[in-house]
Formats: sequence, structure tokens, C-alpha cells
Amino acid sequence: MSESKQKTVAIVGAGACGLVCAKVLLDDGFDVSIFEKQRELGGVWCAESAYIDLHDQQAGGTYEFSDLFNGEEFAPWWRVHDYLQKYADLFHLTQRIHFQTRVMSIDKENIKNDTIPWIVKVETIDGQNKTFEFDLVVIATGLFSEPNVLNFQGQNKFAGEITYPFAIKSYEQMANKRVVIIGSGKSAADMAVLAGHYARSCHLVFRKAHWALPRKIIGGYMSIRYLLTRVFSINFPPFPDAPHTYLFHLFHRKFPAFSIKSSKDAEADILAIHGPDLFNDKIFIPQHLLHHESSVIVLPDDFIKLKKEGRIIGKLASIREIVNETTIRLDSEEELEADMIICATGFVRRFSFFSEKNAQAMGLVKKSGGDTKINLYRQVLPVGIPNICFIGFTSSTGHWTIAEVASHWLSDYFLKRLKLPSEKEMHEEIERRHTFLYDTFGDTGGAEYEFSYYWIGPFEIYLKDMGLALHRTNNWITEYFVVYRPYRLRGLHEERRIKAEKGIVPRHWYFSFEHTICLILLLIFLFFIF
Ligand SMILES: Cc1cc2nc3c(=O)[nH]c(=O)nc-3n(C[C@H](O)[C@H](O)[C@H](O)COP(=O)(O)OP(=O)(O)OC[C@H]3O[C@@H](n4cnc5c(N)ncnc54)[C@H](O)[C@@H]3O)c2cc1C
Repeated sequence: MSESKQKTVAIVGAGACGLVCAKVLLDDGFDVSIFEKQRELGGVWCAESAYIDLHDQQAGGTYEFSDLFNGEEFAPWWRVHDYLQKYADLFHLTQRIHFQTRVMSIDKENIKNDTIPWIVKVETIDGQNKTFEFDLVVIATGLFSEPNVLNFQGQNKFAGEITYPFAIKSYEQMANKRVVIIGSGKSAADMAVLAGHYARSCHLVFRKAHWALPRKIIGGYMSIRYLLTRVFSINFPPFPDAPHTYLFHLFHRKFPAFSIKSSKDAEADILAIHGPDLFNDKIFIPQHLLHHESSVIVLPDDFIKLKKEGRIIGKLASIREIVNETTIRLDSEEELEADMIICATGFVRRFSFFSEKNAQAMGLVKKSGGDTKINLYRQVLPVGIPNICFIGFTSSTGHWTIAEVASHWLSDYFLKRLKLPSEKEMHEEIERRHTFLYDTFGDTGGAEYEFSYYWIGPFEIYLKDMGLALHRTNNWITEYFVVYRPYRLRGLHEERRIKAEKGIVPRHWYFSFEHTICLILLLIFLFFIF
């Protein structure tokens, strides 16, 4: 540790993932500085970014970190922000953040040389330019902060406003307007509910319906928080490289139709719960299996009610052109009148602080439309470029949890405790994962980072790499049947320390299913003997 004690780390971004990474690195003795272009921390979850009425869609108290209990579910954005602020204050991160400071460039003479520092150039809100040197850099700029800006044919004829969900900060912005929303993900559904309540009219224009989960499933009796149990993850095929058990692999090999069957059962359940008020309009029925759903959303309250009342009208189409000041023509030739267009059309990833050459060398490849294909080993490490990592680039129902465990992995890498495979093997791992995600979710644009309902496999890969225990409770019943809350991971720092110092996996008492069978057999045996 003493060798790494003086090592300086720059973290770009003070969103949830940047913060948890800072906490882990500080605990490991690094000298951490965080650069944040906004005036508050929290990234997506702060006043500058969040739209009015934004709630997280995380059930079961799983949107928190291991060492600060919260327990909220479906919290409004300001509660998530408060939680992150409390986390940053409690662990002395706030004083390490340079607010309103945008990182403009990260470079060094030879990015493959791990003996020279990174040069980080920043610009403050008052236009000052500053230059820093850091031994190590972590990019935590988020997957969902830069909206995908659309350009419509005839756009300059439009007299109204073309905007994005994050610009909607008050109900008044929509009042008395004819609003057209493009998209069918979470932000689009949230915008539709707002417009359904406050606008003169609301049309939701989308090309593909998503499976929207109700808050209660199985006929409305079971909270969706139980989807975040290990036992539920058995439904899904093995994730590449994840340390699934032999039984798990065998089960999926012997019964390959099981996942499809369970997916279809779940679809029937969702169709029944949301009912005809949503699905009498066939366009809201997704055309793909739930099993292949890349963008899991929880339907906001009131969506179905507003749709039933005709205050949200769906159109399965896309905008072909803007005809005049107020008229939009769809590719179905239908025309809609609008004063406001809200583009809830996703996000793009840009790493403008890297030169094109460096970005390319790091596996960040420009896609058409301005987005970037992200090729990182374990979603963290650019292959062949030392002393720089990325955190938060796995989107999943376990986004924060994965980022927390990945931060420990990243710290072990910086501490040179991790044994990495060859560069060829790293590229193969990236390829394997991309192929699996493309095969599972299709080319939805996010196949490099969109892990959807895969959360446990991905973070167990990090645990396995670090040589730590996969079972995080002390018996198989709690392990498999209780919601996987992040507090299960709160001992990771200490476990890593023991592992590094003594070379052993810290003792972890676990009463397995096999133990239970043996115990039962023993009791039966004793019963017959005596
Ligand atoms: C509408 C919406 C709802 C969501 N709901 C959920 C949910 O329910 N559950 C879930 O798991 N996930 C959800 N997510 C995903 C969410 O993005 C992640 O869970 C997580 O909060 C992302 O944290 P982050 O730190 O990676 O990124 P961000 O929160 O985006 O933070 C990145 C930070 O980097 C800063 N930054 C960027 N560039 C620079 C620069 N050049 N210099 C300095 N600073 C920079 C940004 O200002 C920002 O503060 C949602 C996302 C959105 C958009």
C-alpha cells in the first residue's frame, strides 16, 4: 500500500459511479481528485440534469451502495441526489470535487508508457484553464448524460420548441401545448405522463414498443423487487465468463427452452396485468420476446389511466418531416399538430477529451450518428493502455452495484494486484461479450454496454477475478431467495486487504444446499440407526 499511497488519481465525473469509485480508491490510499462540469454532484440525479418528476425505477432498496443503507425504491430524483450528497459528505468526497470544472483534454506523450503521468487540462466556469498531472485517471462520465440530438427534415420551418426530457423542469413548460414525444423508453413514458396531465394534447411517436414492467407481477401479487434475487437470475442463460455453477450450466444445457418458456409466461402475466386499457391499442404490444428486452422500464403511475382517457395517444411511426410551423408528417403519412417536440431518443457517448488517435487506441470507436462503440476489457480497461480505467459503462438493473464491485477491481488493477490475461485474450473476452449481447438483444445500439437484466453474472466476474467469495450471505436460503441488496458487498475492502496480505480468500462460512442435503441424509441415517 505504501507504494500506492502517494499515487494521484483524477476521476472525471461526480455522478454515482465516479463517487463510489472515489470512495474505494480513497479507502485504498490513493490521492483522489474529482472533476465535475456541473455545479452539483450526482450526474443524472441533480437539478441541472433531472427533469421534473424523474424517479428511479429501482425496486427493493437496490439503488444504493454497500456502506450507506437507504432502502428507498422508486425514489424521486432529489431523494437520489440527497443520498449521493450524504454519501459524498460521509466519506469525505465532497471536498475533493472541483465543481464547474470541465475536463478538456487527457493526454501524455506516449499513452502506452506507464511511467509518465497523464496531463489533464480543465476549464473552469469562469473560463480559466488549468493543467494538472496525475498518475492515474478514471473516466466516469456516464452512459446517459448526453442526449441524442435529432435533426428533422424541414426542422427550421417549425415554430415551436424542439427539446429533450432533461430540459423539462416545470409543468408550465407544457401547459396548453400540443406535445409530440418521440421514443418509447423510460424518459418518453415519463414525458407522456407529464404531457397527459398538463399539455393540450400528447402524442407518443415510437418505432418499437418496450416491455414495461408493472410494479407487481405474478397476477399482481409479487413485488418486482423479487426479480432482484439470485433465484430469479436462474431464468437467464449463462453470461459469458461469469462464474456460474456447474449445475447452472447443466440446467441451461439440458433445458434450453426453459428461458424462453419463462419469458413467455412473464409476458402473458404483463399483458394480463396492464390489461386491455394499454394493449387494446396493439401498437403497445412489443414485437420481441421479453427475454430480448434491452431497455427494462417500469411503467410510470397514471400512464395507463391517461392512455385510457385518450390523453396519451400512441403512434407506431417515426417523423418523416416537418411540414410547416406546426405540422409534423409521420412516415405513415399521418400529420400531427404540435407546438413542442420532445426527443426522448436516447443518448450518445462522446469522449471529446481524448484525441481521435488516443480514443481509437483505447477501443473507443466512433459510430455513425456521433455515438461511440465501447471496447473495454471487463467494461473497465482499455486494452494495452495502462493507468487509465472507465467506470459506470455497464448499464443494467444492477448499474450501481456493478460499478461498486468494478471499482474494487479497478483499484486492485491500479495496485498491481490483479493478474491480467494477455492482450489477445482480453480482445477475445470483449468480442465474446459483444457477441452474446448482440445475440440476446439484437442491434439496439447499446450492445456494448446494455446488459439489461444481467446483473449478478457481470459483477461476480469481478469477484472471481479478485479471488473473493461469490456467496455473500451465510446460507443458501438467504443467498438465493432474499433480494440482493448492496450491503452484502460491504466487506470487500477488508477482504481484498486480507487476500493481498495473506494470499488467502478470507474465511466465509456458507451453509450450502449440498450441506442441507447431507444434513438431511445424516438425520435419516441416525433415525434408522437409533
Ligand atoms: C432518466 C434516467 C433514469 C435512470 N434510472 C435508473 C434506474 O432506475 N436504475 C438504474 O440502475 N439506473 C438508472 N439510470 C442509469 C443511470 O445513468 C445510472 O444508474 C447512474 O446514476 C449513472 O451514474 P454515472 O456516474 O455513471 O453517470 P452520470 O450520472 O451521467 O454522471 C456523469 C458525470 O460526469 C460529468 N462529466 C461528463 N463529462 C465531463 C467532463 N468533460 N468534465 C467534467 N465532468 C464531466 C457529468 O456532468 C456527470 O455529472 C437512469 C438514467 C436516466 C438517464
